[in-house]
Amino acid sequence: MPLIYRAANVVEAQLIVDELQAGGMQAHVTGSYLSGAIGELPPSEVIGVWLLQAQHEDRARHIIDAFEASRKRVEKEWRCTGCDEWLGREFGACWQCGQTRLVSRPDGD
Ligand SMILES: [Zn+2]
Repeated sequence: MPLIYRAANVVEAQLIVDELQAGGMQAHVTGSYLSGAIGELPPSEVIGVWLLQAQHEDRARHIIDAFEASRKRVEKEWRCTGCDEWLGREFGACWQCGQTRLVSRPDGD
């Protein structure tokens, strides 16, 4: 059973499992219950996602690559019109220059 992914946290591990299940593969997470007990290790060393069917490893890695690529895209979702800074979708205004996020107005201004 190959280790297919090292997750930064339990939520990320679960997202990977969900992606793999959507692709018809089974995976399971180890270490999520140990993170409290092993205080010295960072969580990324503890939480592993294991693919149950080793024959699907190549396909699983493609799914994970695609998942990571799409996640990077949504991290920086809009561009400030004031200073061209890329900002995450959770921000309603630019942290650098204070420009508020523009919302399209169908009826103009
Ligand atoms: Zn700005």
